[in-house]
Amino acid sequence: MTRTTRTLPRQFAACACAPPPPPPHTPPTSPTSSTSPAEPEPDIKILMDNNKSWVREQKRKDPDFFTKLGSGQAPKYLYIGCSDSRVPANEILGLPAGDVFVHRNVGNLVVGTDLNVLSVLEYAVDHLDVKHIIVTGHYDCGAVKAAVETQDLGLVENWLRNIRDVYRLHFAELDLLDNAETRHRRLVELNVIEQCLNIYKTGVVQRKRMKTFNEAQEGVGDNHAYPRIHGMVFDPGDGLLKKLPVSFRQEIQGKEHIYNLYKSQDLKERNSE
Ligand code: ZN
Repeated sequence: MTRTTRTLPRQFAACACAPPPPPPHTPPTSPTSSTSPAEPEPDIKILMDNNKSWVREQKRKDPDFFTKLGSGQAPKYLYIGCSDSRVPANEILGLPAGDVFVHRNVGNLVVGTDLNVLSVLEYAVDHLDVKHIIVTGHYDCGAVKAAVETQDLGLVENWLRNIRDVYRLHFAELDLLDNAETRHRRLVELNVIEQCLNIYKTGVVQRKRMKTFNEAQEGVGDNHAYPRIHGMVFDPGDGLLKKLPVSFRQEIQGKEHIYNLYKSQDLKERNSE
């Protein structure tokens, strides 16, 4: 892009009240920034200082920490959670950097047309070989609260509609709950369960589960189909993570003819191609 220099109209050029033309090559200044790029503003400086403290602490605990971290990642878990600032994946799971692959969005949704989450899922399952996928919702979730309001919130409605659809699927149970907070907490849980089912529905997960199931039948691995899928809810009020008592095999039972994309024989033939 070429830079152009504005010149004053001829009639103003000799006028004492006309502003002087800007000196050539004067760098533009930001009206909101009073510090140079070398001196980060206080809100950012604290992050840089925190980072240095974190590096020192990791090295103190394990002098080889960054040698290992720099050599690549092999996380066992994929975490899909809400963007809410109170629910940081590594901290609530007690896992260090490198141990969990993370995807977060508003309302911890797994939407079949969202290339972002689908790309994360494929990379985690096919390339990182994660053993567990954990969908984590949280109580006091603004997205879930917004999705039960009869109000057009604009663009975000197109995203929140996925939670409204969860409400529609379970309104017979939810509408029996008189207490608004109890109803909210139950919708948070049901939303997590539906997102877990959305993960089950994907070809990438079914293909990997069938492959590892067949390998287990042949004595490879530890007799489980992977990845396994878990639904959890975090309570910002006490910091505790609750595993939802749900059997996804039961949830999907009776619907296999709708959602199952593979039969065992199909996969063996596909793998031998
Ligand atoms: Zn949330």
